[in-house]
Amino acid sequence: MKTLSCRDAGFDCDYLIQGETEEDIFRDGGQHALNDHGIRREDFTPKFNEKLKALIRDI
Ligand SMILES: [Zn+2]
Repeated sequence: MKTLSCRDAGFDCDYLIQGETEEDIFRDGGQHALNDHGIRREDFTPKFNEKLKALIRDI
């Protein structure tokens, strides 16, 4: 199980993204960012993705 805190990603938000794999995290997180923060897929630059990957925690 992996989690990524939206707050760790730099948002003032308590949403916790959860998934079995990094792909799940990016799918769920991408959807959440789109719906709740107005961030589009094209805003997920390789550099931003790398930053997010480093923030994913194994629990
Ligand atoms: Zn959020």
